[in-house]
Amino acid sequence: MSLKKIETKVHSGTRLTPEDALTLFESDDIFTIGRLAHKIAYRKNRDRVYFVQNHHINPTNICVNRCKFCAFSRSKGEKGAYALSIKDILDKLRPHNSGLRIPYTEVHIVGGLHPDWPFEFYIEMLREIKKSFPYIHIKAFTAVEIDYFSNISCLNLTHTLKALKNAGLDSIPGGGAEIFNKRVRQKICPEKIDGKKWLHIMGTAHSVGIKSNATMLYGHLESYKHRVEHMLLLRQL
Ligand code: SF4
Repeated sequence: MSLKKIETKVHSGTRLTPEDALTLFESDDIFTIGRLAHKIAYRKNRDRVYFVQNHHINPTNICVNRCKFCAFSRSKGEKGAYALSIKDILDKLRPHNSGLRIPYTEVHIVGGLHPDWPFEFYIEMLREIKKSFPYIHIKAFTAVEIDYFSNISCLNLTHTLKALKNAGLDSIPGGGAEIFNKRVRQKICPEKIDGKKWLHIMGTAHSVGIKSNATMLYGHLESYKHRVEHMLLLRQL
């Protein structure tokens, strides 16, 4: 019955409410949900499909935060800790090193919050990538990293973002959003910036002309209600 109501809204192009979103999460009728999702996607995109040839680079796994859920990070000096040089990064992007017939069209760079790298290192990294591969779209640094850069550079957020943009940053990935609900976030990653700050950083990035995507980390302690809350905050932004 409740999916019927949602189906009517989908057909008429009426925006779904938070209650509708909860109903969708609680339903196990994945065929109907898939059919309705396809209808909306087709209405927006027709048969157009896009892809990028993306190379994911993590310059370092050394991180001052050491979030509880993160199996990637290491402390400085710990076994398995690594830090790439700018030359290492450029080498990874060279088409003949990747075995690809066509070059990468996008690079996605995210990593740990390195205790020693100055902000200038990241600026140089962006400049060098743009100089060597001007056709590559650089999507780099989560809001958590941007906040860290602003602290180590002593620049305010807007100036930090503008400096990154001027050095070649094209867009930022949505990592670090995790789940906005305060109580759950406090349990899974108290070391990280809070949800309000994540949203503020993304809003500031958009205001200086940097596009972003967004993420939600789910399947841990959160409830369906927390997921809906999270998506509503993203929608508002
Ligand atoms: S900030 Fe990122 S890289 Fe660092 S510990 Fe947390 S999740 Fe891992």
